[in-house]
Amino acid sequence: MNQAFQSVMKENPFVEFDCIVIGAGPAGFAASVEAARSGLSVLLIEQLGFPGGIASASLCPHIMGYTEAGKQLVKGIADEFARSLDRIGCAAFNRGDEYEMPIGDKPLTTSVITTKPAVQYTMNAMLDAAKVKTLYYTSLIAVERDGNRIAAVYVNCREGIIRIPARVFIDATGDAHLVHRAGGETREHDPEESMTKTLLMHVNGVKDFKRSETKTRFRELSKQGLVPVAGQDNFMGFSIPMHPGETHLNFTMTAGNAVTSAACTEMDKELRRQAFDGIAWFKKNFKGFESAYLADIADMIGIRAARNIVGKATVTEKAILADEAVTEPVVNSKCYYGDHYSKSFSASWAKTGGVRAVPFGAMLPVTLSNVIAAGRNISSEPRVITTFRLMATCMGLGQAAGITAAYAVEKIVNANEVPYSAVSAAFREKGVLYHD
Ligand SMILES: Cc1cc2nc3c(=O)[nH]c(=O)nc-3n(C[C@H](O)[C@H](O)[C@H](O)COP(=O)(O)OP(=O)(O)OC[C@H]3O[C@@H](n4cnc5c(N)ncnc54)[C@H](O)[C@@H]3O)c2cc1C
Repeated sequence: MNQAFQSVMKENPFVEFDCIVIGAGPAGFAASVEAARSGLSVLLIEQLGFPGGIASASLCPHIMGYTEAGKQLVKGIADEFARSLDRIGCAAFNRGDEYEMPIGDKPLTTSVITTKPAVQYTMNAMLDAAKVKTLYYTSLIAVERDGNRIAAVYVNCREGIIRIPARVFIDATGDAHLVHRAGGETREHDPEESMTKTLLMHVNGVKDFKRSETKTRFRELSKQGLVPVAGQDNFMGFSIPMHPGETHLNFTMTAGNAVTSAACTEMDKELRRQAFDGIAWFKKNFKGFESAYLADIADMIGIRAARNIVGKATVTEKAILADEAVTEPVVNSKCYYGDHYSKSFSASWAKTGGVRAVPFGAMLPVTLSNVIAAGRNISSEPRVITTFRLMATCMGLGQAAGITAAYAVEKIVNANEVPYSAVSAAFREKGVLYHD
């Protein structure tokens, strides 16, 4: 450790934890709740001041991944989360031009719209109820290794830098920051080939918003080359039913290397410009938008994919296309990829339809023995990440990581060597591996 670092080092005020989870997005939230409910002492570290990851910091209160062809695909904590949102009046089924709330005990056979504050409040409530120790305003900065194990993480807290050891670690950072900082194997994505980066926004003052009509008008303008964002040829947006007059717009897009701060800074500035110019364009060109104004915009650009781990198994396009049987399935998800392409919404290689399972080995790094990956940074070829990146699936992957961590700690085995047969029954019983 160099001297500059040592002068700001602080004593670790915590006891040693069984499990440290880095990243409080949908995956890290579910991983922490599950691991704590299974009896582990769990510390959840998040660089922002709140949980939710992209759902809150990137303003995406729209939980997809619950369903395919009218059947529910994941239960467990992902299901519990939707029901908890519903109990505070903040969950609606998205049925195109129509919305349905409350959702009650109906199966989750469509996506669930909620709000950013509801995501943050509900995740905090579930984390507290499970007795997870949450530490926000804290970033992972470095990792101490002991052979193939992570011995401790160094985190930057507001009071200084703290070294915190644990027995098992979960990388739920979205872009494999933990595995990367530990020197584990990762895979970076070509920005042109992987999905676009977007700054989501909410506008108020829209009258009688009809998604289908807006989509048709958008298509006409796109055919005439009049959309002010290059490559954006598909309208994406919906009403927030619990906030009358508020409309969510997924409109801005750019491509860049999201594992560098410099590129993220440039993309952020470009997307904020697109958002402002875009609202002016919507006001001029769409009926009902005449008095619209920008009410909220994401704090951070939404990164769909940038880097993931290299795992013992990898989700591949070949396996998905061939519908190959997955021998060690963790969670089911809808086969769906090739959208949010950098040149147009759909790539020529886009595919949709059918159910595929994520293999257990995709969560287990090849070299780091006491680490599990959860969420959008599991091992995958970049093109097919959409098949498991939606939030309900990420919560399923997080819950599976929590189950695996609890087994590894209890049986004193390496997390990346936990046999599938030891955890598969729990995946099924707890609703992670589920299909109506
Ligand atoms: C623009 C956009 C629109 C989307 N639309 C939808 C949609 O409509 N429906 C849907 O279901 N999904 C959607 N998705 C996908 C979905 O939001 C993500 O795939 C999902 O949130 C991934 O969950 P995660 O927990 O793996 O990662 P993330 O949500 O990215 O969470 C990672 C967390 O780790 C934290 N973190 C990262 N590095 C560090 C560090 N060094 N120290 C501490 N904390 C750290 C981050 O701050 C963040 O909170 C969208 C994604 C984007 C970008």
